[in-house]
Amino acid sequence: MESTIYQSDIFKMACTQFDLAANLLEMDPRLRERVKVPKRCMTVACPIELDSGEVVLFEGFRVQHHLSMGPTKGGLRFHPQVNLGEVAALAMWMSWKCALVGLPYGGAKGGIAVDPHSLSVNELEHLSRRYMQEMIPFVGPNTDVMAPDMGTNEQVMAWMMDTYSNHVGNTVPAIVTGKPLGLGGSEGRKEATGNGVAYLAKSYLQDLKIPLSQATAVIQGFGNVGAEAALALEQYGVEIIGISDVSGGFFNSKGINLKSALTHVGKHRSLAGWRGGDRVSNEELLLISCDVLIPAALERVIDEKNAGKIQCRILAEAANGPTTNAADVILAQRDDVLIVPDIFCNSGGVIVSYFEWVQDLQSTFWTREEVLRRLHAILDNTKAQVETQKSKLNCTRREAALSLGIHRVAEAKRLRGLFP
Ligand code: NAD
Repeated sequence: MESTIYQSDIFKMACTQFDLAANLLEMDPRLRERVKVPKRCMTVACPIELDSGEVVLFEGFRVQHHLSMGPTKGGLRFHPQVNLGEVAALAMWMSWKCALVGLPYGGAKGGIAVDPHSLSVNELEHLSRRYMQEMIPFVGPNTDVMAPDMGTNEQVMAWMMDTYSNHVGNTVPAIVTGKPLGLGGSEGRKEATGNGVAYLAKSYLQDLKIPLSQATAVIQGFGNVGAEAALALEQYGVEIIGISDVSGGFFNSKGINLKSALTHVGKHRSLAGWRGGDRVSNEELLLISCDVLIPAALERVIDEKNAGKIQCRILAEAANGPTTNAADVILAQRDDVLIVPDIFCNSGGVIVSYFEWVQDLQSTFWTREEVLRRLHAILDNTKAQVETQKSKLNCTRREAALSLGIHRVAEAKRLRGLFP
């Protein structure tokens, strides 16, 4: 079936990935469309009054991909290029990711087409609250649970939790994850995605027998995920030699001073104007020779033009969908680049979001050490499963991860049966 609702290159990319994995699994044709096509989508109009008195309307989206294994779960993105097709693709990937790491969730994603940096704090609060207000009939701690993604953060989650709680008349921390600690957030959640990316990069570096103290890393995107991955890798002894954000990149063969970069971003909201290395463009950054290359910003940055030229031993996909299908074909022919695929590589975020949800529902809270110990145990276990699947199906690591996740969703649907 060709979707008439979700039309975008990213959605097509997610569908192609699904088809490849479903073929590998020899999935029953009677199940395929049911597993692949998102269950439901919402589009909402969010009018807000700007500080100037002008009224502006923003379009918001939410896609809940499947409802067969529990509530849906997924981030909320504020970015000018957000559209329904992109949100649907991200929701599909969330489904495979949750199933891969064994969480009782379907995938979801939401977004608003807006540049959050163009809004004042006041305007951002109005927009966040308005979006949640419009979504109230479709979300809930047992229905759909949001979390931060690109352009959103703990503060946005706090406003959303407050808006929902005011509506139902009591405090509902489990309505969102990635909240501030003081509102029922989890220890370790803020750093979870980047920490997981770094943990897996370390694990694969060790498999390749590359000493951590001699390894280098380059990171595209210096937001929540990219910066936390950089800090965790530095802790492991890996040298960060390149970073970038939307304003461009920096290369320093002697090592990036992360503390100085973070202080600059804290003050100026971006790396623009920082002086910590040679300036490079985002395109050039991806081609720097290093041991670990981490795309941690947008989708589709590794494509057929640069896939043959990247010079890393490990491509650790912190962003969702950073590698196009055409690039995958090229990289599959290169035995010098090991890909840690997105749905596995960045799963630390949703794993600790799940821990946060469980802690909120039980009103009992774990230490950071406990959270990270449990996170690393799930990542180790999933890695073993992915490597076994890769050997069993004689396929790429991406296909192995996708097929494990997709198979579990398909099994849940088969077991529940088709409602007449
Ligand atoms: P963020 O908003 O905190 O940071 C995004 C970073 O990317 C910023 O530094 C921004 O300047 C940079 N960026 C934006 N456009 C860019 C461009 N064109 N070129 C280079 N850099 C650009 O977002 P985040 O939460 O760190 O998310 C980053 C990626 O990780 C996204 O793909 C997101 O879906 C994925 N992810 C996030 C989480 C999470 O827990 N936050 C979990 C899983 C996956």
